[in-house]
Amino acid sequence: MKYIIANWKMNIVDNINQKFQLIKIGSDREIIICPPYTLLNDVNNSIKNCDKISLGSQDISHKASGAYTGMISPKMLTNCGCKYSIIGHSESRLYLKYDEETLIQKAKIALEYGIMPIYCIGESLNEYKNNNTKNILRDQTKLIPDDIKSKILLAYEPIWAIGSGITPKMEQISDSISFIKNELKFHNVLYGGSVVKSNFSDIMSMSDGVLIGSMSINFDDFSYCCNL
Ligand code: PEP
Repeated sequence: MKYIIANWKMNIVDNINQKFQLIKIGSDREIIICPPYTLLNDVNNSIKNCDKISLGSQDISHKASGAYTGMISPKMLTNCGCKYSIIGHSESRLYLKYDEETLIQKAKIALEYGIMPIYCIGESLNEYKNNNTKNILRDQTKLIPDDIKSKILLAYEPIWAIGSGITPKMEQISDSISFIKNELKFHNVLYGGSVVKSNFSDIMSMSDGVLIGSMSINFDDFSYCCNL
């Protein structure tokens, strides 16, 4: 199975009318739409008859319940139909200041509620330029218990590639994915960061799927890729 994950950001709000029924999906593909929280119910209704399209959230609380204003619990997410949750996207690491312990708690609680974590890691531009990518990837995953490594989707997203239109060279993406699989022992490894129509097939061929931001709200490009 290969995963195609859409991370819809705030610019989707006026553009909810996605024609999911029209998307043709390759046989070994699963499409996961991760809209902002306020659109979860709408998207859940729209994908009802699409058996290869699932719903995911862009974050999840690290606690099952309690007084945590602003947070969304795993139960609230499953009530909306969520089967996946993005955890530790670089934008939430940056703006919401999540540390590794909190992210791991999120992953554990998601799994307890039957939600598959899409756990994001990736280096900054400086770290990349200083040849530090592998150290950073090792560091960002060192607290993840071995027994959950096979139960999550690990998304490798170089921070400098997200939304920039620039990607690492294909050999570098392939090398990082092999490192994450062979040395860090994760089973399903995806790539994210400026995936577009022209690099989609190459990246899919070296990974277990992709996490897509900008291109996922261009219906024609996104649906074209779902059937490649
Ligand atoms: C993302 O938002 O995680 C992402 C990869 O965005 P983009 O595809 O626009 O680089």
